[in-house]
Amino acid sequence: MRVISLVNQKGGVGKTTTTKNLGAGLVREGKRVLLIDLDPQANLTYSLGIRPENDETLKTLYEVLKGTATLKDVILHHDNGVHLAPSHINLSASELELTSQAGRELILKEALRPVLHDYDYILIDCAPSLGILTLNALVASREVFIPLQTEFLAMQGMSKLLETLALVKQRLNHDIEVTGIIGTMYDGRKNLSGEIVATVKQHFGDKLFKTLIRSNVSLAEAPSYGQDIFTYKSDSLGAVDYKALSKEIIAMEGK
Ligand code: ATP
Ligand code: MG
Repeated sequence: MRVISLVNQKGGVGKTTTTKNLGAGLVREGKRVLLIDLDPQANLTYSLGIRPENDETLKTLYEVLKGTATLKDVILHHDNGVHLAPSHINLSASELELTSQAGRELILKEALRPVLHDYDYILIDCAPSLGILTLNALVASREVFIPLQTEFLAMQGMSKLLETLALVKQRLNHDIEVTGIIGTMYDGRKNLSGEIVATVKQHFGDKLFKTLIRSNVSLAEAPSYGQDIFTYKSDSLGAVDYKALSKEIIAMEGK
């Protein structure tokens, strides 16, 4: 079983889009997948068609982090086969509420323990920040995937992120490794996209997945229908790319 955080404190680089569609792609390859929405923006939750503010009975990760619900209590089963632990805007309060608690970085790891063996893949969608929520994700994970937009300033903030990961590895989770960099919003017609990919390869070598996720409007449209790309438009470039990425990630198993 693999627990993977999708992290980049830079906003809008494709973390949520990748978590959702990679999750759906892995399910289509026969894997059991849990998605965890650890972002108070709740974009992943919304983009799977769930509206936490319209359902007062819905329990979310906020309750899990507070200790008043277990992960099993909050997990939803989506039509597309993925399981989701939803987020809520309340989660933004967790950063503050947890600040003074001992072991505050360990809560998610402990909450995951009873469900670990129910899944082949657990993907954690992080907020664009390196606060306590993201630390919880990093402590609970063995692997980190970093989505990078193949655009101007793609590498901005990267040294800060790698520094944070090194500290986490040293102090909180010796096992954590960056095992994949995912190039997103790639546009082969732009020289710049190609140049960025070359730079990322120089820095990260084989860690850059061969599959590049191309810019594709269907990927941006699918969330308003609460669907993944395969359900929304199975013949789109987005579906082709996320299928290829899913297969590439499965091929890493056991390596
Ligand atoms: P945040 O940091 O705010 O959580 P994020 O890193 O999760 O952002 P996304 O929400 O996945 O990024 O993507 C940002 C925007 O770009 C969204 O509107 C999304 O629909 C769109 N998008 C993501 N990937 C692609 C793509 N390959 N082609 C076209 N649009 C994309
Ligand atoms: Mg997001």
